[in-house]
Amino acid sequence: MYQQKKVHWWKPIRSWLQQTGFCWYTLSVQSIRELPFVGGHVALDFVNTAEERGHPEADDVLLTPQDLRLWGQRHGVLGRSVPLHPDAETELQRAREARDLMYALLYARVHQRPLPAIAVRSLGELAADAYRAADLQLDPDGATRWHWSTARLETVRHVAVTAGVELLAGRPSTRLKQCPGDHCGWFFLDATKRGNRRWCQMRECGQEAKDRRRREQRRR
Ligand SMILES: [Zn+2]
Repeated sequence: MYQQKKVHWWKPIRSWLQQTGFCWYTLSVQSIRELPFVGGHVALDFVNTAEERGHPEADDVLLTPQDLRLWGQRHGVLGRSVPLHPDAETELQRAREARDLMYALLYARVHQRPLPAIAVRSLGELAADAYRAADLQLDPDGATRWHWSTARLETVRHVAVTAGVELLAGRPSTRLKQCPGDHCGWFFLDATKRGNRRWCQMRECGQEAKDRRRREQRRR
């Protein structure tokens, strides 16, 4: 989670600020700067830029083209110099749509439901676009790899989409999980030896659940 999860004091303040026309960007920058990458996979970390989907207080840190660029730079997908062209706002919308599409597919996969055919088709179209923008290069280790320009904002979407395609191409794995924490829903790959990781971050969602259980026990 990219905000302090235990205390949601800032949400009513944010709603109030939005009603008054305050630019939330000045506050959201702080959160995307601090967003931890807990997914263990670039596609999952990208989808995890939103949380609490379907909840009235759903959070999202991809609000501006600058957010998208910063996320890409922090994840090492983009370089230091990425100009924001006039169509950057359109790219932000495309990236957010790609993220929602991947969320629907990952959700179905984690919860052992058939992947929605229409979403698979859309992901295929996005992947075809991504590969058209890529170069297949011979890396020093002798392997061929797709490379995208690190100076273009759309590279974030291309990298996330193609990584998502690869993730879904594998057999369904019990290692792909969704955090059951309140106000969360983040995805991650469980890389623990025993495969018993439950939370996106123990010190956030795990601790929150523990504290809640203790409170309930005390009330009894
Ligand atoms: Zn969580």
